[in-house]
Amino acid sequence: MAETGSERTIYIIDVTNRDGVQTANLGLAKLEKTIINLYLDQMGIFQSEAGFPTTNHETEYLRGNLRLAQKGAIKRLRISGWLRAIKADIELGLEMVPELEHINISISTSPQMIEGKWKGKRSFKDVVDTMEGSLSRALELGFKTVGVNAEDASRTPMEDLLIFAEVAKKGGACRLRYCDTLGYDDPFTIYDRIKTLAEEVGIDTELHCHNDLGMAVACSVAGAKGAIDGGVDAYINTTVNGVGERAGNADLLSCILAIKKSSGMKERYKIDPHIDLKYSWRLAKYAAYAFGLPIPVNQPGVGKNAFAHASGIHADGALKDRRNYELYDFEELGRGEPEIIETGRMITTGSYGGIKGFRNVYDKLEIEFESDEEAREILDLVRLANVTTQKPLTEDELRFIAQYPEEARMILTLTPYQKPEIREKRTEITRKVSFPWVNSTGRSKGSGD
Ligand SMILES: [Zn+2]
Repeated sequence: MAETGSERTIYIIDVTNRDGVQTANLGLAKLEKTIINLYLDQMGIFQSEAGFPTTNHETEYLRGNLRLAQKGAIKRLRISGWLRAIKADIELGLEMVPELEHINISISTSPQMIEGKWKGKRSFKDVVDTMEGSLSRALELGFKTVGVNAEDASRTPMEDLLIFAEVAKKGGACRLRYCDTLGYDDPFTIYDRIKTLAEEVGIDTELHCHNDLGMAVACSVAGAKGAIDGGVDAYINTTVNGVGERAGNADLLSCILAIKKSSGMKERYKIDPHIDLKYSWRLAKYAAYAFGLPIPVNQPGVGKNAFAHASGIHADGALKDRRNYELYDFEELGRGEPEIIETGRMITTGSYGGIKGFRNVYDKLEIEFESDEEAREILDLVRLANVTTQKPLTEDELRFIAQYPEEARMILTLTPYQKPEIREKRTEITRKVSFPWVNSTGRSKGSGD
Protein backbone atom coordinates (compact mmCIF):
# COMPACT_ATOMS: atom_id res chain seq x y z
CA MET A 1 0.00 0.00 0.00
CA ALA A 2 1.09 3.59 -0.48
CA GLU A 3 3.71 4.84 1.96
CA THR A 4 1.77 8.08 2.30
CA GLY A 5 -1.30 6.17 3.44
CA SER A 6 -3.90 8.39 1.85
CA GLU A 7 -2.84 9.03 -1.72
CA ARG A 8 -2.53 6.06 -4.04
CA THR A 9 0.57 6.24 -6.20
CA ILE A 10 1.87 4.84 -9.49
CA TYR A 11 5.39 3.39 -9.28
CA ILE A 12 7.64 2.03 -12.00
CA ILE A 13 9.28 -1.39 -11.99
CA ASP A 14 11.58 -1.49 -14.99
CA VAL A 15 12.12 -4.93 -16.52
CA THR A 16 14.66 -4.07 -19.25
CA ASN A 17 17.28 -6.21 -17.53
CA ARG A 18 14.94 -9.21 -17.43
CA ASP A 19 12.30 -9.07 -20.18
CA GLY A 20 14.40 -6.82 -22.42
CA VAL A 21 17.45 -9.04 -22.43
CA GLN A 22 15.55 -12.32 -22.86
CA THR A 23 14.29 -11.08 -26.22
CA ALA A 24 15.31 -12.72 -29.48
CA ASN A 25 18.10 -10.88 -31.33
CA LEU A 26 18.82 -8.63 -28.35
CA GLY A 27 21.14 -8.85 -25.38
CA LEU A 28 23.31 -6.91 -22.96
CA ALA A 29 26.65 -7.52 -21.29
CA LYS A 30 26.54 -7.57 -17.50
CA LEU A 31 28.37 -4.24 -17.39
CA GLU A 32 25.68 -2.73 -19.61
CA LYS A 33 22.93 -4.12 -17.38
CA THR A 34 24.70 -2.55 -14.42
CA ILE A 35 24.94 0.88 -16.07
CA ILE A 36 21.23 0.68 -16.86
CA ASN A 37 20.54 -0.02 -13.17
CA LEU A 38 22.67 2.99 -12.19
CA TYR A 39 20.82 5.25 -14.64
CA LEU A 40 17.42 3.92 -13.51
CA ASP A 41 18.42 4.76 -9.95
CA GLN A 42 19.46 8.28 -10.99
CA MET A 43 16.09 8.66 -12.65
CA GLY A 44 14.34 7.76 -9.40
CA ILE A 45 12.78 4.51 -10.61
CA PHE A 46 11.42 2.33 -7.81
CA GLN A 47 12.66 -1.12 -8.82
CA SER A 48 14.69 -2.91 -11.48
CA GLU A 49 13.87 -6.50 -12.21
CA ALA A 50 17.55 -7.10 -12.73
CA GLY A 51 17.74 -10.71 -13.85
CA PHE A 52 17.42 -14.40 -13.14
CA PRO A 53 18.94 -15.51 -9.81
CA THR A 54 19.04 -19.19 -10.79
CA THR A 55 20.88 -18.57 -14.07
CA ASN A 56 24.56 -19.23 -13.60
CA HIS A 57 25.88 -16.29 -15.61
CA GLU A 58 23.69 -13.82 -13.72
CA THR A 59 24.95 -14.68 -10.23
CA GLU A 60 28.03 -12.48 -9.95
CA TYR A 61 26.37 -9.60 -11.78
CA LEU A 62 23.40 -9.67 -9.39
CA ARG A 63 25.64 -9.95 -6.34
CA GLY A 64 27.81 -7.11 -7.63
CA ASN A 65 24.77 -4.88 -8.10
CA LEU A 66 23.45 -5.72 -4.65
CA ARG A 67 26.85 -4.72 -3.29
CA LEU A 68 26.60 -1.43 -5.15
CA ALA A 69 23.31 -0.88 -3.35
CA GLN A 70 24.89 -1.73 0.02
CA LYS A 71 27.67 0.77 -0.71
CA GLY A 72 25.20 3.48 -1.64
CA ALA A 73 26.23 3.63 -5.31
CA ILE A 74 22.66 2.55 -6.04
CA LYS A 75 20.63 4.66 -3.67
CA ARG A 76 16.98 3.79 -3.82
CA LEU A 77 16.40 1.44 -6.73
CA ARG A 78 15.42 -2.03 -5.55
CA ILE A 79 17.29 -4.79 -7.31
CA SER A 80 14.95 -7.73 -7.76
CA GLY A 81 14.97 -11.15 -9.36
CA TRP A 82 12.51 -13.17 -11.44
CA LEU A 83 11.88 -16.79 -10.50
CA ARG A 84 9.48 -19.51 -11.50
CA ALA A 85 6.96 -20.26 -8.76
CA ILE A 86 8.72 -23.50 -7.93
CA LYS A 87 10.03 -24.15 -4.43
CA ALA A 88 13.31 -25.63 -5.64
CA ASP A 89 13.96 -22.59 -7.86
CA ILE A 90 13.30 -20.19 -5.00
CA GLU A 91 15.68 -22.12 -2.73
CA LEU A 92 18.33 -22.24 -5.45
CA GLY A 93 17.88 -18.53 -6.19
CA LEU A 94 18.66 -17.66 -2.58
CA GLU A 95 21.58 -20.07 -2.51
CA MET A 96 23.11 -18.49 -5.62
CA VAL A 97 22.35 -14.86 -4.68
CA PRO A 98 22.16 -14.83 -0.86
CA GLU A 99 21.89 -11.02 -0.63
CA LEU A 100 18.71 -10.93 -2.74
CA GLU A 101 15.70 -9.50 -0.87
CA HIS A 102 13.09 -8.82 -3.52
CA ILE A 103 11.64 -11.32 -5.97
CA ASN A 104 8.70 -11.99 -8.24
CA ILE A 105 7.55 -15.55 -8.68
CA SER A 106 5.70 -16.50 -11.83
CA ILE A 107 3.14 -19.09 -12.91
CA SER A 108 0.70 -19.32 -15.81
CA THR A 109 -2.97 -18.92 -14.93
CA SER A 110 -4.93 -19.00 -18.21
CA PRO A 111 -6.78 -22.05 -19.59
CA GLN A 112 -4.73 -21.65 -22.80
CA MET A 113 -1.43 -21.96 -20.92
CA ILE A 114 -2.64 -24.59 -18.45
CA GLU A 115 -3.91 -26.83 -21.24
CA GLY A 116 -1.40 -25.79 -23.88
CA LYS A 117 1.70 -26.17 -21.70
CA TRP A 118 0.81 -28.85 -19.17
CA LYS A 119 -1.49 -30.88 -21.45
CA GLY A 120 -4.00 -31.86 -18.78
CA LYS A 121 -1.42 -32.71 -16.13
CA ARG A 122 -2.40 -29.68 -14.10
CA SER A 123 -5.63 -27.94 -13.20
CA PHE A 124 -6.22 -24.32 -12.22
CA LYS A 125 -6.46 -25.52 -8.61
CA ASP A 126 -2.96 -27.05 -8.94
CA VAL A 127 -1.69 -23.68 -10.19
CA VAL A 128 -3.13 -21.89 -7.17
CA ASP A 129 -1.74 -24.52 -4.78
CA THR A 130 1.71 -24.36 -6.38
CA MET A 131 1.75 -20.56 -6.12
CA GLU A 132 0.58 -20.69 -2.50
CA GLY A 133 3.26 -23.21 -1.54
CA SER A 134 6.03 -21.32 -3.37
CA LEU A 135 5.00 -18.00 -1.86
CA SER A 136 4.98 -19.47 1.61
CA ARG A 137 8.44 -21.02 1.06
CA ALA A 138 9.83 -17.70 -0.23
CA LEU A 139 8.59 -15.81 2.80
CA GLU A 140 9.83 -18.56 5.11
CA LEU A 141 13.29 -18.17 3.53
CA GLY A 142 13.26 -14.50 4.47
CA PHE A 143 12.67 -12.64 1.20
CA LYS A 144 11.44 -9.16 2.13
CA THR A 145 9.04 -8.72 -0.75
CA VAL A 146 7.52 -11.36 -2.97
CA GLY A 147 5.37 -10.34 -5.91
CA VAL A 148 3.21 -13.01 -7.50
CA ASN A 149 2.90 -13.06 -11.29
CA ALA A 150 -0.17 -14.34 -13.07
CA GLU A 151 1.26 -15.12 -16.50
CA ASP A 152 -1.33 -14.61 -19.25
CA ALA A 153 -3.68 -12.94 -16.76
CA SER A 154 -5.50 -11.17 -19.59
CA ARG A 155 -6.66 -14.53 -20.98
CA THR A 156 -7.60 -15.84 -17.53
CA PRO A 157 -11.31 -15.80 -16.54
CA MET A 158 -12.01 -13.10 -13.99
CA GLU A 159 -13.36 -15.55 -11.42
CA ASP A 160 -10.08 -17.52 -11.54
CA LEU A 161 -7.99 -14.39 -11.32
CA LEU A 162 -9.91 -13.25 -8.24
CA ILE A 163 -9.22 -16.59 -6.53
CA PHE A 164 -5.53 -16.41 -7.49
CA ALA A 165 -5.19 -12.83 -6.23
CA GLU A 166 -7.03 -13.57 -3.00
CA VAL A 167 -4.77 -16.53 -2.20
CA ALA A 168 -1.68 -14.45 -3.06
CA LYS A 169 -2.79 -11.65 -0.78
CA LYS A 170 -3.67 -13.99 2.11
CA GLY A 171 -0.33 -15.73 1.65
CA GLY A 172 1.59 -12.48 2.13
CA ALA A 173 2.42 -11.41 -1.44
CA CYS A 174 3.23 -7.71 -1.65
CA ARG A 175 1.79 -7.37 -5.14
CA LEU A 176 -0.03 -9.19 -7.90
CA ARG A 177 1.57 -8.90 -11.33
CA TYR A 178 -1.16 -8.84 -13.95
CA CYS A 179 0.64 -10.04 -17.08
CA ASP A 180 -0.89 -9.14 -20.39
CA THR A 181 1.61 -11.59 -21.79
CA LEU A 182 0.38 -11.49 -25.37
CA GLY A 183 -0.81 -7.88 -25.42
CA TYR A 184 -4.40 -9.12 -25.66
CA ASP A 185 -6.10 -6.46 -23.51
CA ASP A 186 -7.22 -3.06 -24.69
CA PRO A 187 -7.22 -0.01 -22.41
CA PHE A 188 -10.92 -0.43 -21.60
CA THR A 189 -10.82 -4.13 -20.75
CA ILE A 190 -7.71 -3.79 -18.62
CA TYR A 191 -9.12 -0.81 -16.74
CA ASP A 192 -12.27 -2.76 -15.83
CA ARG A 193 -10.42 -5.93 -14.87
CA ILE A 194 -7.81 -4.21 -12.73
CA LYS A 195 -10.39 -2.03 -11.01
CA THR A 196 -12.46 -5.11 -10.18
CA LEU A 197 -9.39 -6.90 -8.79
CA ALA A 198 -8.45 -3.86 -6.72
CA GLU A 199 -11.93 -3.44 -5.31
CA GLU A 200 -12.58 -7.12 -4.64
CA VAL A 201 -9.17 -8.20 -3.37
CA GLY A 202 -7.34 -4.99 -2.46
CA ILE A 203 -3.82 -6.04 -3.43
CA ASP A 204 -1.33 -3.61 -4.99
CA THR A 205 -1.09 -4.43 -8.67
CA GLU A 206 1.65 -4.52 -11.28
CA LEU A 207 0.75 -3.94 -14.89
CA HIS A 208 2.90 -5.99 -17.24
CA CYS A 209 1.81 -5.25 -20.80
CA HIS A 210 3.18 -6.34 -24.15
CA ASN A 211 2.84 -4.50 -27.42
CA ASP A 212 1.59 -7.14 -29.86
CA LEU A 213 -1.39 -4.96 -30.76
CA GLY A 214 0.43 -1.66 -30.29
CA MET A 215 -1.32 -0.83 -27.02
CA ALA A 216 1.26 -1.65 -24.33
CA VAL A 217 1.64 1.92 -23.07
CA ALA A 218 -2.09 2.67 -23.30
CA CYS A 219 -2.95 -0.55 -21.46
CA SER A 220 -0.33 0.04 -18.74
CA VAL A 221 -1.59 3.52 -18.06
CA ALA A 222 -5.27 2.51 -18.18
CA GLY A 223 -4.53 -0.44 -15.89
CA ALA A 224 -2.75 1.83 -13.44
CA LYS A 225 -5.75 4.11 -13.48
CA GLY A 226 -7.97 1.12 -12.70
CA ALA A 227 -5.77 0.14 -9.76
CA ILE A 228 -5.80 3.65 -8.28
CA ASP A 229 -9.53 4.08 -8.86
CA GLY A 230 -10.04 0.71 -7.18
CA GLY A 231 -8.08 1.86 -4.15
CA VAL A 232 -4.63 0.23 -4.45
CA ASP A 233 -1.18 1.33 -5.60
CA ALA A 234 -0.13 0.61 -9.18
CA TYR A 235 3.29 -0.53 -10.40
CA ILE A 236 3.89 -0.32 -14.13
CA ASN A 237 6.42 -2.70 -15.67
CA THR A 238 8.37 -0.87 -18.35
CA THR A 239 11.46 -1.28 -20.51
CA VAL A 240 13.80 1.38 -21.83
CA ASN A 241 12.80 2.24 -25.41
CA GLY A 242 10.09 -0.43 -25.21
CA VAL A 243 12.41 -3.36 -25.98
CA GLY A 244 11.03 -6.75 -25.05
CA GLU A 245 9.64 -10.05 -26.26
CA ARG A 246 8.22 -9.91 -29.82
CA ALA A 247 6.73 -6.41 -30.34
CA GLY A 248 8.13 -5.27 -27.01
CA ASN A 249 6.96 -4.04 -23.62
CA ALA A 250 5.59 -0.69 -22.46
CA ASP A 251 8.17 2.05 -23.03
CA LEU A 252 9.42 3.59 -19.77
CA LEU A 253 9.42 7.23 -20.83
CA SER A 254 6.12 7.03 -22.74
CA CYS A 255 4.35 5.66 -19.66
CA ILE A 256 5.71 8.41 -17.42
CA LEU A 257 4.88 11.12 -19.98
CA ALA A 258 1.35 9.74 -20.38
CA ILE A 259 0.77 9.92 -16.64
CA LYS A 260 2.37 13.34 -16.20
CA LYS A 261 1.15 15.09 -19.35
CA SER A 262 -2.08 13.59 -20.70
CA SER A 263 -5.36 15.44 -20.28
CA GLY A 264 -7.03 12.70 -18.28
CA MET A 265 -4.18 11.93 -15.90
CA LYS A 266 -1.97 14.92 -15.26
CA GLU A 267 -2.35 16.31 -11.76
CA ARG A 268 -5.11 13.78 -11.08
CA TYR A 269 -3.02 10.65 -10.67
CA LYS A 270 0.07 10.68 -8.49
CA ILE A 271 3.28 9.22 -9.86
CA ASP A 272 6.27 8.33 -7.69
CA PRO A 273 7.65 11.79 -6.80
CA HIS A 274 11.25 10.55 -6.97
CA ILE A 275 11.07 10.27 -10.77
CA ASP A 276 13.27 12.82 -12.51
CA LEU A 277 12.73 12.95 -16.25
CA LYS A 278 15.94 14.79 -16.99
CA TYR A 279 17.83 11.49 -17.03
CA SER A 280 15.58 9.97 -19.67
CA TRP A 281 17.58 11.20 -22.66
CA ARG A 282 20.84 9.78 -21.32
CA LEU A 283 19.19 6.47 -20.43
CA ALA A 284 17.43 6.07 -23.77
CA LYS A 285 20.60 6.88 -25.73
CA TYR A 286 22.67 4.50 -23.64
CA ALA A 287 20.17 1.63 -24.02
CA ALA A 288 20.07 2.20 -27.78
CA TYR A 289 23.88 2.01 -27.92
CA ALA A 290 24.12 -0.99 -25.61
CA PHE A 291 21.42 -2.98 -27.42
CA GLY A 292 22.68 -1.79 -30.82
CA LEU A 293 19.11 -0.73 -31.54
CA PRO A 294 18.62 2.83 -32.87
CA ILE A 295 15.84 4.91 -31.34
CA PRO A 296 13.03 5.33 -33.94
CA VAL A 297 12.88 8.94 -35.16
CA ASN A 298 9.28 9.25 -34.00
CA GLN A 299 9.86 7.79 -30.50
CA PRO A 300 8.01 9.91 -27.88
CA GLY A 301 10.37 12.30 -26.11
CA VAL A 302 13.69 10.89 -27.27
CA GLY A 303 13.22 10.33 -31.01
CA LYS A 304 15.13 12.59 -33.41
CA ASN A 305 11.86 14.15 -34.56
CA ALA A 306 10.19 14.46 -31.14
CA PHE A 307 10.91 18.20 -31.11
CA ALA A 308 11.64 18.79 -34.81
CA HIS A 309 9.45 21.06 -36.94
CA ALA A 310 9.74 21.35 -40.70
CA SER A 311 6.49 22.51 -42.26
CA GLY A 312 5.96 26.26 -42.43
CA ILE A 313 2.94 26.49 -40.18
CA HIS A 314 4.43 24.21 -37.51
CA ALA A 315 7.88 25.84 -37.49
CA ASP A 316 6.39 29.31 -37.31
CA GLY A 317 4.02 28.27 -34.54
CA ALA A 318 6.72 26.53 -32.49
CA LEU A 319 9.01 29.55 -32.78
CA LYS A 320 6.29 31.93 -31.62
CA ASP A 321 5.32 29.81 -28.64
CA ARG A 322 6.65 26.30 -28.11
CA ARG A 323 3.34 25.22 -26.59
CA ASN A 324 1.70 25.66 -29.99
CA TYR A 325 3.29 22.41 -31.13
CA GLU A 326 5.11 20.93 -28.14
CA LEU A 327 3.24 19.40 -25.23
CA TYR A 328 6.32 19.38 -22.98
CA ASP A 329 9.86 20.75 -23.03
CA PHE A 330 12.90 18.93 -24.36
CA GLU A 331 14.96 20.41 -21.49
CA GLU A 332 12.76 18.49 -19.04
CA LEU A 333 14.02 15.22 -20.57
CA GLY A 334 17.67 16.25 -20.43
CA ARG A 335 17.86 17.13 -24.13
CA GLY A 336 19.37 20.27 -25.59
CA GLU A 337 22.92 20.01 -24.23
CA PRO A 338 25.62 20.16 -26.93
CA GLU A 339 27.31 16.84 -27.62
CA ILE A 340 31.00 16.68 -28.44
CA ILE A 341 31.98 14.33 -31.23
CA GLU A 342 35.68 13.76 -31.83
CA THR A 343 36.54 14.66 -35.41
CA GLY A 344 40.32 14.42 -35.24
CA ARG A 345 42.59 11.81 -33.72
CA MET A 346 40.84 9.38 -31.46
CA ILE A 347 42.55 7.28 -28.85
CA THR A 348 40.43 4.51 -27.38
CA THR A 349 41.10 1.74 -24.93
CA GLY A 350 39.73 -1.77 -25.01
CA SER A 351 40.39 -5.51 -25.15
CA TYR A 352 43.88 -5.13 -26.59
CA GLY A 353 44.68 -1.69 -25.23
CA GLY A 354 47.99 -0.74 -23.64
CA ILE A 355 48.81 1.47 -20.68
CA LYS A 356 49.62 4.66 -22.68
CA GLY A 357 46.34 4.78 -24.57
CA PHE A 358 44.50 3.82 -21.41
CA ARG A 359 46.04 6.70 -19.46
CA ASN A 360 45.25 9.13 -22.27
CA VAL A 361 41.58 8.10 -22.21
CA TYR A 362 41.33 8.43 -18.42
CA ASP A 363 43.23 11.76 -18.42
CA LYS A 364 40.47 13.17 -20.60
CA LEU A 365 37.96 12.05 -17.97
CA GLU A 366 40.16 13.74 -15.33
CA ILE A 367 40.64 10.46 -13.51
CA GLU A 368 44.08 9.87 -12.06
CA PHE A 369 45.57 6.71 -10.63
CA GLU A 370 47.69 6.62 -7.52
CA SER A 371 50.22 4.17 -8.90
CA ASP A 372 51.16 2.27 -12.04
CA GLU A 373 49.97 -0.84 -10.33
CA GLU A 374 46.52 0.62 -9.80
CA ALA A 375 46.37 1.82 -13.41
CA ARG A 376 47.33 -1.64 -14.69
CA GLU A 377 44.66 -3.22 -12.53
CA ILE A 378 41.97 -0.93 -13.95
CA LEU A 379 43.31 -1.49 -17.48
CA ASP A 380 42.88 -5.21 -16.98
CA LEU A 381 39.24 -4.68 -16.00
CA VAL A 382 38.68 -2.33 -18.93
CA ARG A 383 40.06 -4.99 -21.29
CA LEU A 384 37.74 -7.61 -19.84
CA ALA A 385 34.78 -5.24 -19.97
CA ASN A 386 35.43 -4.56 -23.63
CA VAL A 387 35.59 -8.27 -24.36
CA THR A 388 32.05 -8.52 -23.03
CA THR A 389 30.57 -5.41 -24.69
CA GLN A 390 32.44 -5.64 -28.02
CA LYS A 391 32.12 -1.91 -28.66
CA PRO A 392 33.99 1.13 -27.39
CA LEU A 393 33.32 1.64 -23.70
CA THR A 394 31.32 4.76 -22.87
CA GLU A 395 32.67 7.43 -20.55
CA ASP A 396 30.28 6.35 -17.80
CA GLU A 397 31.34 2.72 -18.21
CA LEU A 398 34.98 3.79 -17.85
CA ARG A 399 34.15 5.96 -14.84
CA PHE A 400 32.24 3.11 -13.23
CA ILE A 401 35.14 0.67 -13.58
CA ALA A 402 37.60 3.19 -12.10
CA GLN A 403 35.34 4.02 -9.20
CA TYR A 404 34.09 0.55 -8.32
CA PRO A 405 36.80 -1.89 -9.42
CA GLU A 406 35.83 -4.61 -6.94
CA GLU A 407 32.20 -4.60 -8.02
CA ALA A 408 33.27 -4.36 -11.66
CA ARG A 409 35.42 -7.45 -11.12
CA MET A 410 32.42 -9.33 -9.73
CA ILE A 411 30.13 -8.18 -12.53
CA LEU A 412 32.64 -9.25 -15.18
CA THR A 413 33.12 -12.69 -13.67
CA LEU A 414 31.64 -15.53 -15.70
CA THR A 415 32.56 -19.06 -14.70
CA PRO A 416 31.13 -22.08 -16.47
CA TYR A 417 29.56 -24.27 -13.85
CA GLN A 418 29.87 -28.02 -13.85
CA LYS A 419 28.71 -30.34 -11.12
CA PRO A 420 31.82 -31.83 -9.44
CA GLU A 421 30.59 -35.40 -9.94
CA ILE A 422 30.34 -34.82 -13.70
CA ARG A 423 33.69 -33.03 -13.84
CA GLU A 424 35.42 -35.93 -12.12
CA LYS A 425 33.92 -38.59 -14.36
CA ARG A 426 34.55 -36.85 -17.65
CA THR A 427 38.18 -37.25 -18.61
CA GLU A 428 37.89 -36.37 -22.25
CA ILE A 429 35.11 -35.49 -24.63
CA THR A 430 34.33 -38.41 -26.92
CA ARG A 431 31.42 -36.86 -28.76
CA LYS A 432 31.90 -36.60 -32.54
CA VAL A 433 30.38 -33.61 -34.28
CA SER A 434 30.40 -33.30 -38.04
CA PHE A 435 30.42 -29.87 -39.60
CA PRO A 436 28.34 -29.88 -42.81
CA TRP A 437 30.83 -27.71 -44.73
CA VAL A 438 33.73 -30.08 -44.08
CA ASN A 439 33.98 -33.36 -46.06
CA SER A 440 35.13 -36.67 -44.64
CA THR A 441 38.78 -36.00 -45.44
CA GLY A 442 38.55 -32.91 -43.29
CA ARG A 443 38.86 -30.60 -46.29
CA SER A 444 36.45 -27.75 -46.75
CA LYS A 445 33.84 -28.56 -49.40
CA GLY A 446 33.80 -25.12 -50.82
CA SER A 447 37.52 -24.48 -50.99
CA GLY A 448 37.76 -25.28 -54.74
CA ASP A 449 41.38 -26.40 -54.69
ZN1 LIG B 1 6.88 -9.97 -20.36
